[in-house]
Amino acid sequence: MKSSPPGRAPLASARGSRTTVIDGARIATMDAGRRELTGHVVVEDNRIASVGEGPGPQGDNRIDGRGCLLTPGLVNTHNHLYQWVTRGLAADNTLFEWLTTLYPVWAGIDEETVNAAAQGGLAWLARTGCTTTTDHHYVFPRDGGDVLAAEIEAARSVGLRFHPTRGSMDLGRSSGGLPPDDVVEDRDRILAATEQAIDRWHDPSPGSMLRVGVAPCSPFSVTGGLMREAAELARRKGVRLHTHLAETEDEDDFCREHFGCSPLQYAESLGWTGADVWFAHGVHFDDTEIKRLGATSTGVAHCPSSNARLGSGIAKVAKLREAGAPVGLGVDGAASNEAGSLLEEVRHAVLFARASGGPQAMTVRDALEIATLGGATLLGRQEEIGSIEPGKLADLALWRMDTLPHADITDPVAALVLGAPPPLELLLVDGRPVVEHDRMVTVDEDDLATRDARAHRTLMEKAR
Ligand SMILES: [Zn+2]
Repeated sequence: MKSSPPGRAPLASARGSRTTVIDGARIATMDAGRRELTGHVVVEDNRIASVGEGPGPQGDNRIDGRGCLLTPGLVNTHNHLYQWVTRGLAADNTLFEWLTTLYPVWAGIDEETVNAAAQGGLAWLARTGCTTTTDHHYVFPRDGGDVLAAEIEAARSVGLRFHPTRGSMDLGRSSGGLPPDDVVEDRDRILAATEQAIDRWHDPSPGSMLRVGVAPCSPFSVTGGLMREAAELARRKGVRLHTHLAETEDEDDFCREHFGCSPLQYAESLGWTGADVWFAHGVHFDDTEIKRLGATSTGVAHCPSSNARLGSGIAKVAKLREAGAPVGLGVDGAASNEAGSLLEEVRHAVLFARASGGPQAMTVRDALEIATLGGATLLGRQEEIGSIEPGKLADLALWRMDTLPHADITDPVAALVLGAPPPLELLLVDGRPVVEHDRMVTVDEDDLATRDARAHRTLMEKAR
């Protein structure tokens, strides 16, 4: 555990007691009534014990929340953590151009680079309010070691609740796919490794800090056979399914040319719809498909910044939610969203929805709901996280709203969503502090920056 920044006292929660009271904050509960109040939250061990108006009970571990907004921790539903150390490449290209530039760089990843990248990406997610994140890891070089173990270790050290997925690619260029042959794996090997990953790490128990999902990469890098068998494996094991779908027009063209149907029709023919499935992006679903997603409770991870960075389009989030499809937010890999900030996705979700769908397309509170409860639903954790209610896990973000960028904004929720990113006074995950006074307390940010720069140089030299 790192000490607090010089001149700043550690917050009360860091002192090791089992009860913490956050007092005097404005609280956006996201409970069933979407209550907002000024009051207190009591945390006992790793759970929320009570929420109420006015001052909380007196005690040693009291955190002064005056001038702050308390929200549920944000939930990130799509990411590729290894990309943290491959940022800034193919800065002005389409998805397919960007991918073909990056595949050879990613072919060089190993345990050290993945651990360094994952720590960097996870730390920045924490600094931007994220308490639970998934990861979609689909590059497994033959001599790269156990890269999935490397990112799971990173999540343990950073302290976030983690839902990694065992991704995969088995459709190389020589078979008509997009990725080069040396970054794809054999189907049997993928399925065996995926089952092993679930057996080794997946923890289905209440309050779990680690759950594993199954995630073949995309229609243009995976065979239909693998998609079908992956779905069967996930359902046999009782874990969730994730993949990229309907991200770009190029992907739509690929599916129509190779399979004679749209990406969603293709996915559905392979068993890929249902409440245990969530797709990344979903930019190009048409109205009929949106209804189908709603009818099957299939989820969508909305990644507004990445979709804009690659010029892919803007997902129809309001229509998806209206149809009953759960929607969460995703930063996506940092190679297509260099900011890697989950709070920025909340702001972009509102702005892009209104820019494309008019002023009523999304409220600031809709955006906060998508970022919290919406994400929790995609990961099957809506009973445990995503709102501030007694009995739920203590995953909380306390944002400081009384400094120059926000002090005079009337509505603190609008200030959080539309304003500049505020300092993060405290981030609790499972009741434990991960960020205090806008700095990581679990890992050293400066050491991590040095280590990530080294990992980046190593990969670029290997790719030359
Ligand atoms: Zn992605």
